[in-house]
Amino acid sequence: MQKFNPLKKTHACIDLGLLHYSVTSDGEFIEVPKFFRKSEHRLSKLQVRLTKKQKHSKPWNILKHKIAKLHKLVARQRLDWQFKLAYHLFSDVSVIFIEDLQIANLVRRCKAKLGDNGQFLPNGQSAKSGLNKSLQDAGFGQFVQVLEYVGWKLGKKIIKVDPKGTSQHCWECLSQVSKSLSERWHSCPKCGQELDRDYNSALMIQKIGLLSTQEEDITSVKTAVRASLAEESRALP
Ligand SMILES: [Zn+2]
Repeated sequence: MQKFNPLKKTHACIDLGLLHYSVTSDGEFIEVPKFFRKSEHRLSKLQVRLTKKQKHSKPWNILKHKIAKLHKLVARQRLDWQFKLAYHLFSDVSVIFIEDLQIANLVRRCKAKLGDNGQFLPNGQSAKSGLNKSLQDAGFGQFVQVLEYVGWKLGKKIIKVDPKGTSQHCWECLSQVSKSLSERWHSCPKCGQELDRDYNSALMIQKIGLLSTQEEDITSVKTAVRASLAEESRALP
């Protein structure tokens, strides 16, 4: 297995989390812009007002029109921001590794969610609507499409990586470091790595992505762990 050098700047990786919009393998945390929240708050207020009006009356129609306009504005703002972000992320790299969302959706658990004041919210059923809102806000699927388009335009590349296990293993030594959903910090007892949970995932996705381009049989954390164990046993006298 080739030595992995995270400082080599030809590639970047993104972990699409909910707390942050994403975190790159450079340790850059990209937040969901606040204007989405603000617009959404305004939208929900208008929706409540709409329910109090008589359907198809003049004020109802005016309000309905207002809501549709706001929806359009938010969609435009989101797309505009996603394009800016895609160009920013590609600015100094030629390859971006990203978690494969089709697989991620199958394994995605309720991630912890921060409240408006930065406190952790329970991520059970009560927070479900908030969580869905975050997902909507982030528009992950659309962002990946934007990223693919921008990559194609710039003649750069996106490699999708199986995200299974990326948060439960140490990016440096690959050993398993189990964490509950509320644990936001990665602390490896084996090699001493100390870093944010999402940052660890981003580095892990980058590592698996890089390995997958070098060694055919490595496509996931599981196969990387297997390969590294096989290598260790070969090294034994
Ligand atoms: Zn470690």
